Amino acid sequence: MSEGAAKKEEKPRKFQAIRGTRDLLPPETALWNRVERTAHEVFATFGFGEIRVPIFESTDLFARAVGGDTDIVSKEMYTFEDRPVGIPDLTAFTDLGEYVAAVESAIRREEIPNTPVNREAVQTLRKKFDDYAAASEQLKPGFSQGSDKKFETYRSFWYQTHFFAGHVQLGDLLSLRPEATASVCRSYIEHGMNSLPQPVKLYYTGPMFRRERPQKGRYRQFYQIGAEVLEAVRPDAAKQDAAKEIKKDATVDAEVIEMVMTFFDRLELQGVQLDINSIGCRECRPKYVELLRAELLKVKDKLGPDSQRRIETNPLRVLDSKLESEQGIIATLPHIADHLCEECAAHYASVKHQLEMRGVIYRENWRLVRGLDYYVRTTFEITAQGLGSQNAVCGGGRYDGLVELLGGPPTKGIGFAIGEDRLILSLQESGKASAQKGRDVYIAWMGERAHATAIRAAKDLRKAGFSVELPPVEQKFGKALGQADKLGAKYALILGDNEVSEGLWTLKTLADGSQAKYTEPDLLEHLRKQKALSS
Ligand code: AMP
Repeated sequence: MSEGAAKKEEKPRKFQAIRGTRDLLPPETALWNRVERTAHEVFATFGFGEIRVPIFESTDLFARAVGGDTDIVSKEMYTFEDRPVGIPDLTAFTDLGEYVAAVESAIRREEIPNTPVNREAVQTLRKKFDDYAAASEQLKPGFSQGSDKKFETYRSFWYQTHFFAGHVQLGDLLSLRPEATASVCRSYIEHGMNSLPQPVKLYYTGPMFRRERPQKGRYRQFYQIGAEVLEAVRPDAAKQDAAKEIKKDATVDAEVIEMVMTFFDRLELQGVQLDINSIGCRECRPKYVELLRAELLKVKDKLGPDSQRRIETNPLRVLDSKLESEQGIIATLPHIADHLCEECAAHYASVKHQLEMRGVIYRENWRLVRGLDYYVRTTFEITAQGLGSQNAVCGGGRYDGLVELLGGPPTKGIGFAIGEDRLILSLQESGKASAQKGRDVYIAWMGERAHATAIRAAKDLRKAGFSVELPPVEQKFGKALGQADKLGAKYALILGDNEVSEGLWTLKTLADGSQAKYTEPDLLEHLRKQKALSS
């Protein structure tokens, strides 16, 4: 085959979005914007301010906050080693020699950790690389493959160099955030927000990353809208009336739940079901877990392998089981609500009362334990219509003590995260995703004079808030009207020589084909009135 022919056949690689990620495109993005705008509006009415935290953080932060035993941390995080500027990525198209030299120079400058272990790792790397370089020299000029011994030696040193390169710790382990509560708590500590008026009420929107098996409503890059209420525990709190504190916390929980429900209501989300539960505290939960374990051991043989394993690792998770064959057994297990300590029971009763005062309809679900380690007392989950098996649109709960676990002062917390992808899916499925509006006005112009007028008209209409399509080339009026129709425009503004010289512009209403002439100020007034009528 000639070189030319080979080149012709070589097709450029077709890139696609990575599995579990997707492009959000118009017109759907208009709905995403509406949802986010509504969140900004509703949350502001509850006194929440927006926080924007980084997309990646130290892996340790998530391990500590979310819990090392959770699926999120142990299996699902996108983690990578940070490295100083100037050290090339060995997995990319890197010259090995350049890489080794860069690592040596970075450790001298202490840009990578200058620890004894690292110093030794870098020395070994240098030695392996020198062996590799010598072996590669030996191979010249006939760089042939096959069973040639020299080639084997060369290849072995190449592997060894890469192997030892992996032993140098270039920097911290970082992870793409799988959720944002940990970051918000980190930020609360870092910025000393405990000295602000308490509680601190924050909300966020943005992408999260988890390496899950993609399916409808489950993605590897997905979006959450969440909120957190953080409140420093006053040093004299112990002296305060404990009953008062419990009632205050329960009121905060209920208001946070009321806020999510108000948001969903505003969006007209259909089939909304709020489930609540209390999972106790560090005092009473371990006792319940032990009781549950003992009961589960009695019926171990009747459970599937996953639940059998969880009896040891995390008996609460057995309650999550969706296995048909286990449902009968789970129904006979003791309920945590009957084993809460006095404070937790009072707190739970108060949350329910506060929800009732706010007219928030809930269902108690004693099996709602949620997967994250940090929850205490209140947990809740909200499901919506049209989502199949992945029907949870929101999960949340109280997490007193999490800030302390991350090295901060004693702090109480409650928050939630809404799965925005699922929220959007549900709105679409139930027909509550109003279609994106087309353009307001399409300007059909003809002739150079009309073009100048059209440019000015577009500027004035846009300034008045109308969406305007101004075609860059002149078109026959018939074609222009067809184009206006395709774009879903409400009106076509027709500007030809006659219109410009008369100072009377023709406005065609595309829905009924009616047509009328207006002076420029009258036209703007007419469009304004029509817009006010239709909104
Ligand atoms: P979590 O942070 O696990 O409590 O999840 C809160 C909400 O985020 C869930 O109720 C879902 O709506 C949403 N969510 C969690 N994981 C995913 C995912 N992989 N894809 C889409 N949405 C998700």
